[in-house]
Amino acid sequence: MNKPAIEVADLVKIYGELRAVDGISFAVDPGQVFGLLGPNGAGKSTTVEMIEGLRKPDGGSITLLGVDVVRQPQRVKELIGVQLQSTAFFKQLSARRLLRLFGSFFKKSLPPDQLIAWVNLEEKADAPSAALSGGQRQRLAIAIALVNDPQVVFLDEPTTGLDPQARRSLWDVIRRLRAEGKTVLLTTHYLEEAEQLCDRLVIIDHGRIIASGTADGLIHEHFERASVEFFNEPKLTHERLASLPGADKVEEANGRMTLYSGDVAHTTRALLSLADELGVAPRGLSVHSATLEDVFLKLTGKHLRE
Ligand code: ADP
Repeated sequence: MNKPAIEVADLVKIYGELRAVDGISFAVDPGQVFGLLGPNGAGKSTTVEMIEGLRKPDGGSITLLGVDVVRQPQRVKELIGVQLQSTAFFKQLSARRLLRLFGSFFKKSLPPDQLIAWVNLEEKADAPSAALSGGQRQRLAIAIALVNDPQVVFLDEPTTGLDPQARRSLWDVIRRLRAEGKTVLLTTHYLEEAEQLCDRLVIIDHGRIIASGTADGLIHEHFERASVEFFNEPKLTHERLASLPGADKVEEANGRMTLYSGDVAHTTRALLSLADELGVAPRGLSVHSATLEDVFLKLTGKHLRE
């Protein structure tokens, strides 16, 4: 096994009475996209800023690429890339000029053209950064974070406020970083984003980790069942539905039947042959599996964005 790129143990940060980070431990393997998920105020940014060496923990240890971050926060800065808030750019400078400028701060830096290609900004490379869209500006911010060719990249809520298309295009960039072998620590409160991107993730609430694993693993751990839904059809009675293979519960609400099953493929097949036999067609048929949102709801009793 590779040594973890980041290892955090019993991390604590206290603000007055508030234990903003209350004993967090996790390890991130090199080359992974690792997600910190949680609602606003959960302690994600505080955790990330401690790992970046920007805030001093009140307890616990952090090792990043073998460096003890608590003892040597300065050394970490050479090894990492941090996505800055894009509003802080010199607006009249182009992406190419900004990348050259930021590159000049480091002994070793990547050529602007390579960075521009990584984040798909070729068309806008010479436009003033003020003329970029929100999504393009976020991609430029990621290019700037990569200027010193860091092994570990921190992206704090990179897609907040972006429209769906811009978000997807940013996801492509994050996948590209993984393909280039970077380790990415990503915070997000978009569960779908975490499902799409993260190799592993932790869910944080009130400064503590309440779940960790892969998105699929967490969903399966907490939800054994999926459901089949369709519009009511009188011939498909509760009794008949309940006796289908795999079916373990039938519910009826708002003119729709929901059939819960531990083996949804088998149950759906049996439902369709029963419907055939009875000469009816279940209209509006759809199959639902649980999502990370359901996991979060189950663990905390609330929706992530409440
Ligand atoms: P998240 O990134 O998950 O939204 P944060 O790490 O920003 O959460 O904040 C965690 C908690 O710590 C919040 O309740 C926040 O108000 C509090 N907090 C963050 N920074 C400070 C600070 N500098 N002083 C006091 N409280 C803070």
